[in-house]
Amino acid sequence: MIQDTSMRGTRLGALSYERDDNVEPAERCIVRYECEKGHATLVPFFVEAEDIPLDWSCRCGRTAHAAHSVPNMAEPDTTPVKHVRSHWDMLMERRTIADLEKLMAERLSEIHAEFEAEEHQLARTA
Ligand SMILES: [Zn+2]
Repeated sequence: MIQDTSMRGTRLGALSYERDDNVEPAERCIVRYECEKGHATLVPFFVEAEDIPLDWSCRCGRTAHAAHSVPNMAEPDTTPVKHVRSHWDMLMERRTIADLEKLMAERLSEIHAEFEAEEHQLARTA
C-alpha cells in the first residue's frame, strides 16, 4: 500500500526538540568594569548569580568599577559609614528646640542672677 509508506515520514514529528534545553548554557550577563585608566574588563556572570560585585580587579592592578548595573548586582554602598550620632543628634532625640530654648532661657537667667549676685558681693567688698 503506497499511501501507508508515504505516511511514515510524519512520525519524525514525534521527535522532541525539548532535549536542547538541557544543553543550552545558562544565561549570562556580562558586566563591564572600567578602571581609572580606562581599561575595560568584561566579566560574564550567570544571570542567577547573586551579589554581582561592583568592583573588579583590573589587569593593571587597579580597582575597576562596574560601568553599568545589572539586576543582581550587589547593593551599592551608599551608606558606607553608619551615621555617627553627634552629641547634638542625641540631644535632639530627647529635646525639642522649644525645650532647649526654655532651658537656655532658664540657664541664662540663672547665670544672670549669679552674675548679679557676684556683682553685689564685689560691690560690698569694694
Ligand atoms: Zn586598568
